[in-house]
Parts: sequence; structure tokens; C-alpha cells
Amino acid sequence: MRKLLFVTGGVCSSLGKGIAASSIGALMEARGFNVQMVKIDPYLNVDAGTMSPYQHGEVYVTDDGAETDLDLGNYGRFTTAKLSRSNSITTGQVYKKVIEKERAGDYLGRTVQVVPHITDEIKERILAVASNPDVDMTIVEIGGTVGDIESVPFLEACRQLIHELGKQNAISIHVTLVPAVSSGEIKTKPTQHAVKELQEIGIQPDALILRSSKPLSDELRRKISLFTNVEEEGVISGYDAATIYEVPLIYYGQRLDTFLLRKMNVESRHAELNKWQTVVQAITKPNRKVKIAVVGKYMDLQDAYKSIWEALIHGGIAYHAGIDIERIDSSRLEDPRADLDAIFKDIHGILIPGGFGERGIEGMICAARYAREKNIPYFGICLGMQIMVIEYARSILGWQDAHSTEFNKSTQHPVVCLLEEQKKMKNYGGTMRLGAYDAVTKVGSNIRAAYGVELISERHRHRYEVNSDIRLELEAHDLRISATTVDGELIEACEWPNHPWSVGVQFHPEFKSRPTAPHPLFREFIGAALSLSRL
Ligand code: GLN
Repeated sequence: MRKLLFVTGGVCSSLGKGIAASSIGALMEARGFNVQMVKIDPYLNVDAGTMSPYQHGEVYVTDDGAETDLDLGNYGRFTTAKLSRSNSITTGQVYKKVIEKERAGDYLGRTVQVVPHITDEIKERILAVASNPDVDMTIVEIGGTVGDIESVPFLEACRQLIHELGKQNAISIHVTLVPAVSSGEIKTKPTQHAVKELQEIGIQPDALILRSSKPLSDELRRKISLFTNVEEEGVISGYDAATIYEVPLIYYGQRLDTFLLRKMNVESRHAELNKWQTVVQAITKPNRKVKIAVVGKYMDLQDAYKSIWEALIHGGIAYHAGIDIERIDSSRLEDPRADLDAIFKDIHGILIPGGFGERGIEGMICAARYAREKNIPYFGICLGMQIMVIEYARSILGWQDAHSTEFNKSTQHPVVCLLEEQKKMKNYGGTMRLGAYDAVTKVGSNIRAAYGVELISERHRHRYEVNSDIRLELEAHDLRISATTVDGELIEACEWPNHPWSVGVQFHPEFKSRPTAPHPLFREFIGAALSLSRL
């Protein structure tokens, strides 16, 4: 069995195609199929690594160190597909490869063209993932909206694959918007046009997922079926859910998975959805609540810390607890008149996430000091760990100018400095310390208690590290180095002494958290915050 499911979008962007693709993946896994996921991004960047969070939201990192679109994070949360560099395809990668082949003379004097050379390269990349013998189904999400100039070669490759593999082996799912105008009347015309646009390219969708705020009536679904040549059973009402994790259940309720299996001529299997029901129950009907402050840059951008927000929610699921997230722009804390007691009133945990650039750094240091002195559970991730060390060196070791050389090149106390291998890097793209590395955790630490094992593997994305030359001094002043690289060279985690719960990690645990398997560090952080909330 080798099946391809293409997910495209019509009418406008931001319809939640990524959640739709992920939810179909979750449903197929719930029925016992092995699923793979591919995201196509029609931009010219080779990867998302060089894009600003303002442009693109979070950069997601895979084990093998690819810097990808944040939709891969959704795939990782909804499915257990092993994601790597090959799961993310961009126009930049495709053209780079074709041009390299042309320079190497691989095209034997032929004229190199979008069709067939670019489209062949696209098909090859999709099939490379889909033809893995362990994979039953591959869901391919095409970013952007049908009609965009950039996505034309990808849609053409998709059309060719459907034609070559046959309709039973490659199917099309189109996600569109069904808006309500101010009178409340629901409009199907944009969907009719969006489907027509796809049909003009030569793709007849097998299923439609209609995004709307309220569930759509059967009558309306029938009408859309009639206009679009999509069977009525394949017209699904993808209404707004209480949580994104309810979407697989909403599709299941309308038998989307059974319909798709029938279209692909695959025998249906029992669906095991208990895990998802428990997740939705924990989020929508929590037994208690806890309030977490996240202090950083880009706080007004919903997508810049996507995996952090989700991992916090997952931590809550472990206790059937709801999470209230208070986003605090760290620059606010830099004002000498800022009243920290008022800002952190009723906060049960403080998290400082990853980040780059100088703005707001002093505010993050204030937040770390507040957490340390007031015994508030603290979780520092990547930059958040570096901040923890800078603050400790200033307050406890008495090094007033302690800093990271990222922010102050001439400090006398460079407690965080450039990784050795970074000193010779000239290019920006793909050159950080990226991807999964093993670390060894120390007995008796919070981090060891969370993981319960000595050897862990987590994903990284950074250029700076805690300066190993000051390690002895930090330890002499009781800052606990709680994890290092296997060779003992790099500091991967630290903790404050005499504090209820603090963990700083140089890696990004948020990338590996799932609602159905909350990450141990997020789980323990929320556990510590819940203990504080009960006091
Ligand atoms: N800017 C810091 C570094 O490059 C932290 C990176 C991060 O938080 N991802 O080391």
C-alpha cells in the first residue's frame, strides 16, 4: 500500500490547513496505519531558518537539524511520524538542486524547464518519503492558496502524480472557507470558485473541508457537493473547535477517515481514539488552573512561540489542569518604575523561551532574578538558560558586567560565549548547532527526576553556550550543572540551589512534546507551578 493524500487550500490563507492535514494523520494513525507527513512551502528560501519570526513564526527543528516551517511542529504533535529534512520541501531547495544538476551537466545538453525538470524534482522528493516500505500513507500539504503564482509547479506535480499513480493511490483534499456575511447568511460562492480554480489545474478534489465558525447544515453540504462534483460524504464541516486537538474527533464524527479509506480502496480498521478524547476532556474541562508567565520578545505574535504554548498546554493535560498564559514583553520590565510584584501577581511559574538579539534582554534578567528570589518555579529554554547564568553571575558571583558576548562583546565576564565551531562560520543559513544531541543528566537533579534516565536526546538551535571556563566558579557558588554533553564539554542544563523548581536547558524540549505524551520537563514545571498555586 502506498497512498498519497494531497491537502491544498482555497479562498484565503490561515485556514488551518496544517491542523487539517495533521488531524487526518492522527485519524489514520488511530486506525493503525503508518503515516508520513510532508510540507511544501512555495517560497524561495531554502529553509525557514533565516526568516524572521515576524515573517514566518516559529522555526521548527527536526532531529537531523533541518530548520523548517512550524507546520512540522503540528505534524509532530498530532502524529508519531519520524520527521526529518526530507519532510520539508521548498521552492528554494528544488531550484537549488535542479540548477546544481544543470551545472554538473546532468541534463546532457537539454533545455532545463519548469515542466518536466522542476516538477520531476518535486515528484522525486515526495516519492522519496512515500516509498519508504514502513509507510502506508503520506499526507502532503501544499502551502499557500491555490491560485498563487508560487504554487503552480507544485500543483502541477500533484496533478501528474494523481494521473500516474491512479485515483485510488493519490487523492486530493481541499480546505476552503465558508464565511457568514454580516446578516448571518452563509456563503458558498467562494468555495465554488476555489474548487473551480483547482479543477482548472486538472485536479478534481475527492474531499472538501469547509472551514466555518459554526457547524454547517446538511442542506448546505449537499448544495456544495452538487456544485463541486464532490460526493456528499466527502464534504466535511470543519467548524471552529474548542481546541485544535478536537479536530480529529470532529472529522471522525463525520466519518471523513472512512470516506477517504473507501476512496483509496483500503480496508478500514478499528479506530482507537480514547487518547484524543482524554486530551480534549482535560483541556475543555480542567479540574484546576495555573497561571504561567512567559517573558520574552515577539510576545504579540501568536506563532513565534507556537511549540512553547502547546507544550505548556500538554504539561497541564498531565494533571487535568488548565493553563492561563500571561505573555509579558520583557522590555516592559526594564522600566525602573516597573512594579514586578504587581506584574507577577498570581503567577505560579515563569518561563523564558529562546530568542536572538539584544532587545529586552535586561528585562529577562529581571524576570529570572525575581523567580529565583521569590521562589517561583522557573523554566529557561535556550536563551532562557543563558539568562539564568548571566543573572546568577551578576547577583551571586558579584560580576556586575557579566553578559553573553552576543549582547556585549567587550564584557570582562563573558559567561556565555560563541561556540568554538561557530567562530569560523560565514554563512547564516543552517550553520547553528542544530538538531539532536545526547546529554547526560546528573543524579539528584530536577532534570534527572523529570526524565528518569541518565542519557537524553534533545534538539538544539543556538550559536552561544555557557562559557566552560567559569564552570568551576559557578559550581563553587552552588549553581548546579545538571546536564552536559556526553564528553562533558558543553553545559546543557543548570539549576539554582535552594529553590523549589528551576531548570535551564540549552536545548528545545518544546519540539518533542505531544498532547498524548507531554514532555517530562513541561510536565514537571507545571507540577511545580500547581504546588505553588495551592500554597
Ligand atoms: N541567541 C542564543 C544563541 O544563539 C539563544 C538561541 C535560542 O534561544 N534559540 O545561543
